[in-house]
Amino acid sequence: MVVDAHTHIFPPEMLSDRARFCEGEPAFAAIYADPEAPMVTAEGLVAAMDRDQVDVSWAVGFPWLKEENARLHNDYLMASVAQFPERLRGLAAVHPPQAWARREAERALAGGLHGLGEIAFYDTDLNVKSLAPLCRLSDEADRPILLHTNEPVGTGIPARRP
Ligand SMILES: [Zn+2]
Repeated sequence: MVVDAHTHIFPPEMLSDRARFCEGEPAFAAIYADPEAPMVTAEGLVAAMDRDQVDVSWAVGFPWLKEENARLHNDYLMASVAQFPERLRGLAAVHPPQAWARREAERALAGGLHGLGEIAFYDTDLNVKSLAPLCRLSDEADRPILLHTNEPVGTGIPARRP
């Protein structure tokens, strides 16, 4: 069995109106403001999996600062996992410092997602204090947590294919 352990899928409205989702979301804007930066829906991911003979993919969200964006994305991940139960596993994305992070993570796990991630601190050091409640939830729910790590320096890294 071939498993892709780290993919990103997005709701169709985030693909078609990405500029709107860049507002107030500097990390998303740094990666996806460029209209050429690749984004894909669940259907697009499954088509690529079929083409490349991947059996299962873990699909992750994005560390949105705005709760409404996190909810929209997590709702889409839940629907995608339900649509492709044999092909996709989903991780709920929340940004730990946000006051609603644990509540949204609990909602998404109850809604069928398989774990938490990708948790990322793109422009600051890892905030362990805010991460602790999500680690406790991951332990209590016996679900994995995926951490993105990077140095908090340098310029943005555009998501371009070579
Ligand atoms: Zn990622």
